Amino acid sequence: MDQALRSYILTRDGGCIARLTVAWCATLWPMFQGLPEPGECRNTWGDVISPFELDKMTIEEVKAELRAGRKAGYSKESCVCVCPGHHFEGRGPGAKWCTKAVVREAVRLYIPAANEKARERGVMV
Ligand SMILES: [Zn+2]
Repeated sequence: MDQALRSYILTRDGGCIARLTVAWCATLWPMFQGLPEPGECRNTWGDVISPFELDKMTIEEVKAELRAGRKAGYSKESCVCVCPGHHFEGRGPGAKWCTKAVVREAVRLYIPAANEKARERGVMV
């Protein structure tokens, strides 16, 4: 994937988005409240890592609802930062958290809000 886009998404999201389910994020990111418990962030081998280790993070592509079944194509409107554990290929407890339907719903609300906040902060692709 395009390095500028990857860098933008890592900066915009600041780490694995599963961390945003914690209660104190409710004001900024209400769409993440009440989702299934994601558990710890993990690397490719299932070891626990920090959600802020950006060099270990991966990008998950979330298809827009109306285009389900089609590749959305990597863009800042379709991608979020997740750890390898919460990614669709994840292993261990909390694996594939990002692929759950309710999480997908939340992510679709999150992406435009996060892009808007990034724009306000002057973060560009
Ligand atoms: Zn994670």
